[in-house]
Amino acid sequence: MTDVRENIIKVKAEIPEGVSLIAVSKFHPVEAIREAYEAGQRAFGESRVQELLLKEPALPCDIRWHFIGHLQTNKVRQLIGKTYLIESVDSERLLRLIDSESAKRDVITNVLMQVHVAKEETKFGFYPEELLDFFNKHGYESLTNTHICGIMGMASNTDDEDRVRKDFREIASIFKQIRENPEFGLRGFDTLSMGMSGDWKIAVEEGANMVRIGSAIFGERQY
Ligand SMILES: *Cc1c(COP(=O)(O)O)cnc(C)c1O
Repeated sequence: MTDVRENIIKVKAEIPEGVSLIAVSKFHPVEAIREAYEAGQRAFGESRVQELLLKEPALPCDIRWHFIGHLQTNKVRQLIGKTYLIESVDSERLLRLIDSESAKRDVITNVLMQVHVAKEETKFGFYPEELLDFFNKHGYESLTNTHICGIMGMASNTDDEDRVRKDFREIASIFKQIRENPEFGLRGFDTLSMGMSGDWKIAVEEGANMVRIGSAIFGERQY
């Protein structure tokens, strides 16, 4: 059996200071999340809206929920107000919708822009040039109820460490280009979320300050 508590303690001991750990609990039951909670973990990641909405009321209020999956526009309304951070904004249309729904609810929603560098066809996110274009045309300045806190990205799903490192380096470089461009004048754009169970150490070496770890904590997912 998976010892969630032991895994949390082990992972936390390995993660350097200044890097925040998101425990990815998708497809795992509330009891497993509670075990992690009791070991001191407060930030959890979910990839499906319905699942997050079912778990959230069954668990302590001080959990910070991170939404990390592809968010369909027809689910945005239900999700607003439930998350600490939506990490997976993959289109301007989605961003605008999050903003307008947040305005209706009178809340500020924290988001990360998801960037796509991996070689898989199926992954969501802005291509690097698209994301730079978005900032270059100052598309974010009209947002009233959304705080863009940084970038989330994934490396290619491969055992080729050089490939993975190259992907993370590219994501980190886009992050820096945006953050350090004085013309953008962004405030609080400081989160670089990259790295999962199999590759988080490389991600941290390449500058990640948030890692999203699932199976190394909760064991294999039961789909
Ligand atoms: C599932 C998932 C993770 C966690 O993956 P593990 O390999 O189980 O650590 C991280 N990020 C995203 C976006 C995910 O969908």
